[in-house]
Order: sequence, then structure tokens, then C-alpha cells
Amino acid sequence: MNKILNYINGIHLAPAKGEFMDNFNPATGKVYGLIPDSDAEDVALAYEAASKAFKSWKLTTLEERFKVLNRIAELIDENNDQLATAESIDQGKPQWLAKNEITRAGQNFRFFATAAMQFASESHNMEGHAINYTLRQSIGVVGCISPWNLPLYLFTWKIAPALAAGNCVIAKPSEITPMTAYLLSELCIEAGLPAGVLNIVHGLGPMVGNAMVSHPGIKAISFTGGTSTGRHIASVAAPMFKKLSLELGGKNPNIVFADCDFDKALKTTVNTSFLNQGEICLCGSRILVERSIYAKFRDALIEEVKALKVGNPLDKSTKIGAIVSRMHYDKVLSYIELAKEEGGKILLGGQAFKAEGDNADGWFIEPTIIEDLAFDCRTNTEEIFGPVVSIMPFDTEEQALEMANCTEYGLACSIWTSDLSRAHRVASNIESGIVWINCWLLRDLRTPFGGVKNSGVGREGGWEAMRFFTEPKNVCIKY
Ligand code: NAD
Repeated sequence: MNKILNYINGIHLAPAKGEFMDNFNPATGKVYGLIPDSDAEDVALAYEAASKAFKSWKLTTLEERFKVLNRIAELIDENNDQLATAESIDQGKPQWLAKNEITRAGQNFRFFATAAMQFASESHNMEGHAINYTLRQSIGVVGCISPWNLPLYLFTWKIAPALAAGNCVIAKPSEITPMTAYLLSELCIEAGLPAGVLNIVHGLGPMVGNAMVSHPGIKAISFTGGTSTGRHIASVAAPMFKKLSLELGGKNPNIVFADCDFDKALKTTVNTSFLNQGEICLCGSRILVERSIYAKFRDALIEEVKALKVGNPLDKSTKIGAIVSRMHYDKVLSYIELAKEEGGKILLGGQAFKAEGDNADGWFIEPTIIEDLAFDCRTNTEEIFGPVVSIMPFDTEEQALEMANCTEYGLACSIWTSDLSRAHRVASNIESGIVWINCWLLRDLRTPFGGVKNSGVGREGGWEAMRFFTEPKNVCIKY
């Protein structure tokens, strides 16, 4: 049985109350480990360590910070296989996919270790009588809270810039997928990260997460997760005037125009729909196809998706692994039932997948494609976050935009067309923080990342993250 521990003040510790919770392997449906069921007492201990460490961490040179953060990146790379296997067992994603994500977790550390060395601030000259310059100072102790879908990747996406900017961090991974965050703490010790600079407290959101958000000493919270959790966090943190970055849910459209490169649009739509079991916030769950190619695209998509192998995430040929938890599995299946009630026709899938052998009790769902739903029904406007997509025809660009923009969300979209003017026009009119044209998930870590409407507040990535994790101070000198 894997028993993991908190990482506080540079060492591994059991939670103060000594309580642990079960950790499940979603591909077998069985408990395979124990995780700390921490509470406010552990967060207080982590805060004490972090605030003490901040006194010296904020004074480290950029070169010193670079060296230790870059060492963590190297260790993540060196341990890719072990981390990827752990991620796959913990989350249910295919192991080959976990390997890519672990590579990206290493890139996060490397990217922000170097970004801190390049980060500059502004100066404003008042002709002839004064000059202003902006100091970008670290904030102090900050909190990072992450979800279960891309566990180590999203965890490091927050921690790396926070540390690079000179803050000390209290971080909480999802209680559903804590394993690689624990392994990261081992690598931080090996890399020589000073005690207390990063503290990882495991446990439930309403316990550990809430204690972090309401702690008066934690000055900023970077959160990625569901919109309703984000709303709750904002209600606690806003009256305390904390800096907040909220990366929330999505219901992303893929808009396929008749003049697209059909094969590329088709192959990519298979991924936008079902990569990581559809459990990526950037997945496209609403496929809008121009009517003249609708039937051809729909039928070809069904054929492609039929060929995807569902099952054991550790099997190299598996394309669709297990759904992360029993609760989420039930939620996704309930949305398939809702789709039927709303008049949807199940073109493919539509039920649980029964795997064999050790995976017989795992939580698998067949990749599901639904048509004939109204574009503004609940199935088409609420986040399902699983291997379930809806496909719909449209007649005009205006209609495609109306359908695409009809949800409360606005995270990402992909547009498929060979008409350059239309691509720019739709990109400009779509309500979305991220627009991919003739591609999907092509990520440059320097670009602003985040959503509009109920998909979030603030941006991550590049300078946006460095700005979030620093406090600007204007200094005005009269001469
Ligand atoms: P969640 O909101 O349930 O949990 C996210 C994290 O918040 C977890 O660590 C959880 O323990 C913690 N948490 C829960 N309640 C809390 C509270 N009261 N106070 C503080 N922390 C609390 O989300 P999830 O189910 O883990 O993740 C799926 C969601 O994340 C989906 O909605 C998905 O779209 C979203 N997501 C968004 C992005 C993005 O970049 N916009 C990326 C990945 C996932």
C-alpha cells in the first residue's frame, strides 16, 4: 500500500491529526494507497515554514533560483518513466499520454526558471522633471490549488512561476490524484530546494483548500478547477483582498467549415473530443459542422472513433483509459441519460465499457457521439468533462457563432477553415480566451492562457504568470 505524506519545511510529515484517506486506482476500481487527510492545522504549519523561508528565498539571486528550479526540471526528465506510470495509475490516463505530460511538467520548471532571469519591469519618464520605475516584488506566501485532470502538469504550471518570482508556496494537489505531487516533493528534496520554500499539503478541498484560501497570511491564490469551486473561492478570498487567478470550466466548440482540410480537421477532432478521456479543460465537446459536409464528417468521425481502443491505461495500444473517479464516472453517465431525455440520438457509445481481467471493476466509458440535440439544451451547455461529444450542423457563419457563444463558458475553441478572412473574423467574434485555427492544443508557454465569462479570471503563462506572482510598486523620483 502506497502511503504518501505531506511535504512541510523540507521534510515529509504525517498530517497533524494522523488521519489518512483511500486513494483509488480508477482502472481497477480498487484502493491502492493512502493519502493524508490534512486540515487547517497542517496548513498553519506549512504557513509557518513558508513565511520563515521567505525571508531568505526572496533574497536569493536569480541565478541561484534558476539553478535549483532547473535541477528540479532535470530530475523530472530523468524520472519520466516512474512519474508517468504513477500518473497513469493514479489518474486513469494512458501511460503514453502521461509521459508527454510529465515532459511538459519539466518544461514548466525550465521555462519559468529562465523566465525569471529575463523578466523586466517598466519605467515612465515625465519629461524634464521626474522619472517613475516599477519594482516587481515577490508577494510572500502564495497558495496554488490544482485539479485532477493533468495532475503534475497543472500543479507545476503554477508552482514554477510562483517560486521563480521569489515567493514561497503552499500547494494542494487534487485529493483524487495526489501521487505525482508527492513524487515531486521527493525530487525537490533531492534538488536541494531550501526547506519551507515549497510545501505540499494533501487533503480535501473544503478542508485544506479552504484553510489556504481563508488564511490571512496567504496573499494570493492561483486556482484551477471547476467553476462552482472557483465561485466559492472568490467569495472567501475577495473580501480579504487577495490576488486571485481562477482557471475554471469550459464547454468548448470546434467549428468545422466546409472549406477546411477535411482529413486534418477530422483527425484532430478525434483528439479534441477524446484525448485523456475528454478530461482536458481544452477538449472540444461541441462539434459544429457546416451542413454541406455534415453527414460526411459525422460518418467519418464515427468510423475513426470506433477504432479507438478503450481499456488498461498501462497497455501501449490503449487510446482511452479510465474515468478518474467513481463519482465522476457516475456524473458522465448521468449526462448521457440526460442527452437521451433531451432527444439526443446516440450515434456511438452511450454506455459504460466493460474491461477484462484486473480492469473488470475499473471505471471506463465508451467514447460517445450524440446528435439531434438543441444547441442550447443542458447537454450542450453544461460541462460534462468526459468522453462525450455532441455533433450539430450549421448553415451560416453567424449561426455557427451564435451556437458557439451560447454557453456561460469561454475557455477555448478550434476553427477549421481555409478562408483566411473568415478565420480572423470568427477568431475575433468568438467569446473565448484561446482560439486555435486549423490546430488544437498547440501550446507556446509564453502566450496568455485562460478563459472569459465563467471560464475564469486572469491569465497564466509567460509574463502573465510572472506578473500575477509579483506585486508592482511604482517609485517616482523628482529631479
Ligand atoms: P474541483 O473544483 O472540484 O477541484 C479543484 C481543486 O480545488 C482540488 O484540489 C480540490 O480539492 C480543490 N477544492 C475543492 N473545494 C475547495 C474549496 N472549497 N476551497 C478550496 N479548494 C477547493 O475541480 P476538479 O473536479 O478537480 O477538476 C475539474 C475541473 O477543472 C473542470 O471543471 C475543468 O474544466 C477544470 N479545469 C480547468 C482548467 C483551466 O485551465 N481552465 C484546467 C484543468 C481543469
